[in-house]
Amino acid sequence: MSTSATPTEDGIDAIPQAILDRLTRVDMPAVRGIDAAEQSMQVAGVTVPVYSCDALVLGSGAAGMRAAVELKRRGVDVLVASTGLFAGTSACSGSDKQTLYTASTDYKGDNFVKYAQSLCSGGAMDFSTAYVEAVGSIDAMGGLQYMGLPLPHDNQGAILRYKTDHDEAGRATSCGPRTSKLMVKVLFEEALTLGVHILPSCSGIQIVKQTVDGEERVCGVIALHREEKRNAYGLVFIRCEDLVIATGGPGELYRDSVYPHHCHGGLGLALEAGVELCNVTESQFGIGTPRTTFPWNLSGTYVQVMPRIYSVDAEGNEIHFLERFYRTTREMVSNTFRKGYQWPYHSTRMLDYGSSLLDLAVFIEQQAGRKVYLDFLRNPEPVNAGDTFSLDNLDPDVREYLENNDALQDLPIDRLRRMNPLAIELYRMHGTDLASEPLEFAMNNQHMNGGILIDDWGRTNLGGCYAIGEAAGSHGVTRPGGAALNSGQVFGKRVALAIKRSRNDKTDTVVDQSTVSSALAGALRDADGFVSGSGRKPKDVKAEVQARMSDYAGIICTADEVQSALQSATALRREVESNGLEASSAAMVGQAFRWRHMVWVSEAVLTALDHYICAGGGSRGARAICSEAGTRCPDASIEDLSHFRFIEEQANDKEAKLIVHRSAGGITIRSQPVNRDPQVHREFFEKGWGSYLIEEG
Ligand SMILES: Cc1cc2nc3c(=O)[nH]c(=O)nc-3n(C[C@H](O)[C@H](O)[C@H](O)COP(=O)(O)OP(=O)(O)OC[C@H]3O[C@@H](n4cnc5c(N)ncnc54)[C@H](O)[C@@H]3O)c2cc1C
Repeated sequence: MSTSATPTEDGIDAIPQAILDRLTRVDMPAVRGIDAAEQSMQVAGVTVPVYSCDALVLGSGAAGMRAAVELKRRGVDVLVASTGLFAGTSACSGSDKQTLYTASTDYKGDNFVKYAQSLCSGGAMDFSTAYVEAVGSIDAMGGLQYMGLPLPHDNQGAILRYKTDHDEAGRATSCGPRTSKLMVKVLFEEALTLGVHILPSCSGIQIVKQTVDGEERVCGVIALHREEKRNAYGLVFIRCEDLVIATGGPGELYRDSVYPHHCHGGLGLALEAGVELCNVTESQFGIGTPRTTFPWNLSGTYVQVMPRIYSVDAEGNEIHFLERFYRTTREMVSNTFRKGYQWPYHSTRMLDYGSSLLDLAVFIEQQAGRKVYLDFLRNPEPVNAGDTFSLDNLDPDVREYLENNDALQDLPIDRLRRMNPLAIELYRMHGTDLASEPLEFAMNNQHMNGGILIDDWGRTNLGGCYAIGEAAGSHGVTRPGGAALNSGQVFGKRVALAIKRSRNDKTDTVVDQSTVSSALAGALRDADGFVSGSGRKPKDVKAEVQARMSDYAGIICTADEVQSALQSATALRREVESNGLEASSAAMVGQAFRWRHMVWVSEAVLTALDHYICAGGGSRGARAICSEAGTRCPDASIEDLSHFRFIEEQANDKEAKLIVHRSAGGITIRSQPVNRDPQVHREFFEKGWGSYLIEEG
């Protein structure tokens, strides 16, 4: 197929189809899993196969694969076990230009202190973690380029950049809609070249710990391996010295979600093992296509081309609902445009007719049972009679952006074709032709900023247990778009370094067989109990948890609703603890384990949220805490929004992380101060060199 450019009618080079295909239809490498384990244990008359490795990486997204590659390069015997090799958010999610946020290498370079401040400015994040991510971003990106990630650059070699959410400097870059899938692809290719061992279709269900020199540490993971037939459940034990949890985010927590299906993450697994979580109150919500269709984020050019936005009621009437919110056509379309780089919902952006007023309007339509659409074939309708949409009547920043990109075509679809043909191609590939039909969208949950509490080496409170990527709570209340992918890469390398260093003077721990046997016996009892059980079905628990989280812990929360949601979540967890869950067959026990985990995760999030609100916490990040006592209220041209009066964020709340862990009585919560002081400890070369050499061994 030809890859040479053909000029379009307006004289601009059209990107050849072969190139569009290469960036949207990404072929993944064929992966051969390792041979079945030769060793096994007998537990309660059941054969349980046993795998062994030095470091076990659970999860094969961009974060897990980076850790695996970096561990292998350092000579560590690493095994990757993953539920779905190409099933997580990295392999399946994206947006118009899926973003990687790294230090800018063009023109005068970057300032790492300012970069770090952009990461932790929302609060609840230590400056030191942010600085580690900022400095590490150069290597994170360079490593990916070396492995073949096609990041666009100019003729002088500087990576092309743009501005994303919470980004004052323009540090964003992208390979197109599928940046993270391309990252997974090059990381897998590298892992296969290096000979990393991989165990596909294998889900960790329980972390096994033992006490060594008075410290509790990981000694392995009990997992379900779909290919394993030596026992009814596919139960296996993976013995490891170190464990890296890279299981992604808890995408199944919400009904209204843009995560791919079956993203359960590993927070429940961690909670059950006594591992602490932090900042689980902090998530991102924004507009995207729902999971009932093709889940995809709708930031960037999808909204910067200013499509017509409307809703449809039960009778099929089309409603121009934004006219009830914005005062003029110019105000409405300029804020539609700004959703491009102000994508996540933020309460303060509902004020002064800002861009999150649009999010609120979409939310209200959804609550009223109306479906909402983007129409790329027509320009926006006027807000007032005679106030027709015109490219000559836009806010100056909007007009300038479109001019700079030669995107002043008459129709939204032509502006999109000009600015980002890949964005059209992507939906075409998934059955929606934006050039001939409107696109349904909704407010959705997309990302959890919080997760497993880690230090600046990715270590958790459990010895030998690390967490990276979306499983880790490395972000604060806000984060620039693209910082999630960067964090996974930076910490993927940091945990490899930490594990390698920790192994330098260490002999392998002797495994306490009785601890392992009794953990396996417990897992077998649980599995038997699920199959013979009469408890709730996992699908019913899923429906209850997801509805509660979307209805009471989404972008609009009230103290009473969160408190009553927490009571219901605790009641459900107690019921599951007492009665178990019911699996329809041995093959379905995985679902039961996963939903037992999710019940804990939901209770943990609601406990933290309830605690935060009861302590006077205000609206921040993804949520507005609404109350008649609130001091701020969004205005709209016609719609009465007094119901959305909200409490403002308390400045002090930026200075701490909320930490939760499982205890005998349920979920326990504590607060841990963060240090956001932008102080960097700078080492002198000869002094730092010596200790570096010793630590590297
Ligand atoms: C629509 C959308 C758009 C996004 N856009 C951006 C963006 O532009 N920039 C950005 O930085 N971030 C973005 N994100 C977030 C980002 O994609 C994710 O945070 C990131 O890809 C997570 O990578 P990960 O490797 O941690 O997890 P994942 O890629 O989700 O991988 C998790 C892996 O763990 C496996 N797994 C899960 N549980 C278990 C278990 N118990 N045992 C074994 N394996 C398990 C899964 O099968 C999977 O292989 C977006 C997210 C979405 C949903």
